[in-house]
Amino acid sequence: MKQLPLYLWPACLLVANVHAAALPRDQRTPGGVAVLTVPEYLPADVRIFLSGMEVPVIAGAMERKAIVGIPMSQPPGEVSLEARSASGNDSLSFTVSGKDYPEQHITLKTQEHVTPSPEQLARYEREAAEQNAVYRHYEPGQPAWPSFKLPGVGPFSSPFGLKRFFNGEPRAPHAGLDIAIAEGVPARAPADGKVVQTGDYFFNGQTVMIDHGNGVISMLCHLSRIDTKPGQTVKQGDIIGKVGHTGRATGPHLHWTVSINNARVDPLLLLDAP
Ligand SMILES: [Zn+2]
Repeated sequence: MKQLPLYLWPACLLVANVHAAALPRDQRTPGGVAVLTVPEYLPADVRIFLSGMEVPVIAGAMERKAIVGIPMSQPPGEVSLEARSASGNDSLSFTVSGKDYPEQHITLKTQEHVTPSPEQLARYEREAAEQNAVYRHYEPGQPAWPSFKLPGVGPFSSPFGLKRFFNGEPRAPHAGLDIAIAEGVPARAPADGKVVQTGDYFFNGQTVMIDHGNGVISMLCHLSRIDTKPGQTVKQGDIIGKVGHTGRATGPHLHWTVSINNARVDPLLLLDAP
């Protein structure tokens, strides 16, 4: 068959290549993502770990990429990764630079969400342990990096990483992205995966956690209702619940956390089209 000149190829064939999910953008800061080329001398069965947590390794056409989530608590400087394989252990390293996230001051009418009672703190600790167990789980996933889209459309009301103060008191930095969306609007799966945890949590309100494989987890919070169950497989864009303002929220919005190798990272770094 005679080869078509490039400009006569059906557009869909050309677009198909472009639509392969982009890898995250490389931002080597706390809360960022390092996209590292795995050196060729490391064997095919190599697995990479940061602080004991397995890092996703994606096989591309030319080379393997390690997609390292960098914890918010990571001090600037050199970060060492373990490379484990049947033929022995090796190490890799990269350098993290500092990032000064802005401050956010929030006024809450419910003082219990600023200074919880001992009972509420005990509840929070149980719930945090439940969520951390999900974040620490590594489920071998697809060899390709998943495509990510926003779980809902609206103005970004709080970016990732803000140093937060509630009624003047410093609290943990904002571990996700807030999107201002009206109550009752569908919240959607940002990428293919499996629902692994749902709950009604003290701070996060009604919450759905989705495992995208390879230690990549999403959490969607403050929902007014949950329309999915643990064990359910979801495709990108599937409705998992409705936006609300349950838990510690000043108004209806969708909070989206992404975790890679148990590090919460800026979800905007993962979007196909920023
Ligand atoms: Zn939030």
